[in-house]
Amino acid sequence: MAGPTTSTFEVRSPVDDRLLAEVADFSPADVVEAVITLRDAQPAWEALGPKGRARWMRRLRDWLLDEADHLADVLQAESGKPRAEAQLEAPWMAELINYFADHAGEFLADERVGHSGLLSATKRMVKVYRPYPVVGVISPWNYPLAMPGMDVIPALLAGSAVLLKPSEVTPLSALELARGWREIGAPPVLTVATGSAPAGQALVDVVDFVQFTGSTSTGRLVAHRAVDRLVPYSLELGGKDPAIVLADADLDRAVAGVTWGALFNSGQACVSIERVYVEDSIHDSFVARLTTLVDGLRHGEETTPYAVDVAAMATPQQRDLVHRHVTEAVADGARALTGGSPTGIGTGYRPTVLVDVDHSMACIREETFGPTIPVIRVADADEAVRLANDSTYGLSATIWTRDLPRAQSIARRLDVGAVNINDAYANLFALTLPHGGWKTSGSGARFGGAHGLRKYTRQQAITAPRFPTLEREPAWFPYSRGRALLTRRLFHAVAARDLRRRIPRFGRTDPPR
Ligand code: NDP
Repeated sequence: MAGPTTSTFEVRSPVDDRLLAEVADFSPADVVEAVITLRDAQPAWEALGPKGRARWMRRLRDWLLDEADHLADVLQAESGKPRAEAQLEAPWMAELINYFADHAGEFLADERVGHSGLLSATKRMVKVYRPYPVVGVISPWNYPLAMPGMDVIPALLAGSAVLLKPSEVTPLSALELARGWREIGAPPVLTVATGSAPAGQALVDVVDFVQFTGSTSTGRLVAHRAVDRLVPYSLELGGKDPAIVLADADLDRAVAGVTWGALFNSGQACVSIERVYVEDSIHDSFVARLTTLVDGLRHGEETTPYAVDVAAMATPQQRDLVHRHVTEAVADGARALTGGSPTGIGTGYRPTVLVDVDHSMACIREETFGPTIPVIRVADADEAVRLANDSTYGLSATIWTRDLPRAQSIARRLDVGAVNINDAYANLFALTLPHGGWKTSGSGARFGGAHGLRKYTRQQAITAPRFPTLEREPAWFPYSRGRALLTRRLFHAVAARDLRRRIPRFGRTDPPR
């Protein structure tokens, strides 16, 4: 595997700041060198075909499952998340591999297409999916194994070689993924370029397709750079996801679901519930139950597995941003019914319920990415929809009600890429559905059945003769009067019977001559 020559950086625990590892700091030159090596290896990988590549993926799946406990140790250490959450990522990657490996042959198969009219009627036509040679994946720190895996695995299956730049905050799980790839003996088509922003910038400058997951501000920079090079990109960005709780909701489920949807991974998820709109008639009882549940959650340092529900934030900067949103809201008249301050242990922040917030506050307008649940009272569903749509973000939303047909119609009024009814996160685990944000939450989409693999490919059109061919086509150079007249006659004869016959079908309105 290509690797940098000199410098390293430290990876530290967010819980107690202890040194976990020193890892290579890829310079831009190292990134260029890594991509040259990947480019050399990619054609043989592509030549294996979808089924051959799927075999390697299934070996990686088995390795991930064999190493699941160790992987949970690593990602818990570098991210500070609770054990119960850390242990989900490896099995989730195994499920993702199963789905795409099982369908790779079907999704990437050549497609025979019919002709489009007279001029293509003599051709046999095939659409072929050919991978971008090198895909660059840039990932954030909130799910250190799953975030890289969600993009690396489909890109490899599509036939691309992959350069992965994980966040400098949590690079160790990505390095484990690379270790797994090596240990199963797979071809050298995956390189992890650990490093900081310059490594990410260098990646965008040399790969053939950029898959970025991270903040909207960095996504914008990445997109500009990719556009300059005219390379395609797909962006999974930030969110400010609303929950709408209607008067007829099953309150027990809504309270538990909103709590989990907002506080899973300490709220550090793109699809975290970050604003809750509750219909007036149930607002007070919803808030009372929510506060009781959140207040009873266990938080702090997890000295024994499963001892806490909400653990550390990944970085001190993230904790400070959350605290700024809470203190500013409180200064402007909001009330924290529980929580509202750091735990004092590492980067921990106490799960917080905020009421009396208004729509101008940062805790409603900006992505908080932390364990806060701001609740807003609304008169009815219409007001909830209007406020939910009043955001620059458009990632996903949840609706809580017993009236499923009504929820379906409300979903269609929300300007977001996904809506979960009476659940949170559900769309993320449905690989047959697209996962992509609207507005400033993204561009392009992950997953969505065949699209999940085909997005890493270019469509190639191949035409071949359907019938025995002449020495030359009548319309070719050099022109001769005889062939030109023959072509014209033939064309008009067919056109009279074929093209004109179709005119009414295409709704042409001018009167026949
Ligand atoms: P950042 O945007 O800060 O970083 C994302 C990645 O980009 C990191 O690997 C980072 O490296 C790298 N990077 C930073 N600057 C550049 C640059 N100029 N060019 C190329 N790469 C660069 O996001 P966070 O890591 O802070 O992640 C949190 C954000 O990710 C939130 O906004 C969250 O909503 C979003 N997110 C979106 C998801 C989705 O699917 N929509 C899923 C998960 C998170 P380094 O960390 O080393 O600086």
